[in-house]
Amino acid sequence: MNKTDFSHLPQIGKLLEDQRLKKWFPLITRQLTAGIASGILQKIRLTENTSVPDRDAIIKEIERKCRNTSRKRIIKLINATGIILHTNMGRTPIPSDVWNTVSDINTGYSNLELDLHAGKRGMRNGLIPELLSILTGAEASLIVNNNAAAVFLILSAFAKGREVIVSRGEQVQIGGGFRIPEILSLSGAKLVEVGTTNITKLSDYKHAITENTAMVLMVHRSNFSIQGFTENPSVSDITSVIPEHIILAVDQGSGNTTEDIPGEKKAGLYIKSGADIVCFSGDKLFGGPQAGIITGKKNLIEQLSANQLMRVFRPGKTIFSLMEEYLIRKINGNLTGHAETILNLPVKELKKRGNRILRGLDRRYAKLTDSFISTGGGSAPGETFPSVSLAILLPAKPERILARLRNLETPIIGTISKDRVLLNLATINPGELSYVGVSLKQIMEEYSD
Ligand SMILES: *Cc1c(COP(=O)(O)O)cnc(C)c1O
Repeated sequence: MNKTDFSHLPQIGKLLEDQRLKKWFPLITRQLTAGIASGILQKIRLTENTSVPDRDAIIKEIERKCRNTSRKRIIKLINATGIILHTNMGRTPIPSDVWNTVSDINTGYSNLELDLHAGKRGMRNGLIPELLSILTGAEASLIVNNNAAAVFLILSAFAKGREVIVSRGEQVQIGGGFRIPEILSLSGAKLVEVGTTNITKLSDYKHAITENTAMVLMVHRSNFSIQGFTENPSVSDITSVIPEHIILAVDQGSGNTTEDIPGEKKAGLYIKSGADIVCFSGDKLFGGPQAGIITGKKNLIEQLSANQLMRVFRPGKTIFSLMEEYLIRKINGNLTGHAETILNLPVKELKKRGNRILRGLDRRYAKLTDSFISTGGGSAPGETFPSVSLAILLPAKPERILARLRNLETPIIGTISKDRVLLNLATINPGELSYVGVSLKQIMEEYSD
């Protein structure tokens, strides 16, 4: 058996001088490019009894892998799914005015934790607690990295080694593996389940109370709805039957504070109805940066602020500055949350935008069609709202068209409905319409040849 002669295999150092590989350095670094190249050379060496591929073929293969690796980078994309808050796509976009305003704070030094009046170390809070309390009507507020951290902090601080009563209909899993029973057990609290999936009565809560009960936790069903024969006591019902010292906490999830969205109660309403503490995400309906917002009774918020875990869950200057600026604009009425803005787009306007794209396209391959949008991202489950989509009618498998759209320099993410690719116009930014048009034209030319 002849051994393959590897002496013609190019050296890695020489390969990396080729312009076709050098161009990947700024995109994925020289080190990752070199790693890919060396992996491919190694594979060739280990493949016995084959002829050694020529230099061009090797470079092509390295380039292919570099391209795949570069696709892992975080890049801008166009959400044409009609799901406004999509956790896979970064949930809510941060308003660009807010982003630009805090640029100096983040690229220079700031008083993040410096008390400018006293010249000493201060609190990492700014105006955020006061601003949040304006929105929710609560006595005090604070922020952590995300809502999962908020729930964990609340449980750990107030219910470690003690019992927490949760309805069986509210033991939810939020996408990405956040499960209420598991978070509860991690925090050291003991879960006491009450009721059934569809019915939990006030008396179920009442009978579950023992001297070891620390908390009743209510969890918003963010991503599913239970319909038909159902019953769940309200916050004010529960307040009326539990003793004063038991904390009533609500994981509100979506962060609805000012918006009027079907199926979504405002966080402030829970406070008004007697909840001691309410937490929610900053980047769902609320419309701000990623954060967990906790709002409620002053003595409870003070205990949370003083908890060691706060040191683990505290956000950095980017989140603090964005949140503060966002809150000021929201309270002053200078902006509405992204989700609310999109929900309020008239169908007529969406048709107009669709027609702008259609104008440049071969009409055999695209048309407008009525469709719907949803808020997604853990809010208003089961609710849909009217929208308009562009249906792509190319003679090709819809999965292939979706993949081609994802493969664009700025990917466009669509959906498939009734065997057609749909691009929902509501979640496409007006500034992105011409790019969508040009890209579709190009794809249609590829397929119609
Ligand atoms: C989204 C959600 C969470 C998790 O929030 P993150 O901000 O993603 O950590 C927890 N509970 C409920 C009810 C939610 O909707």
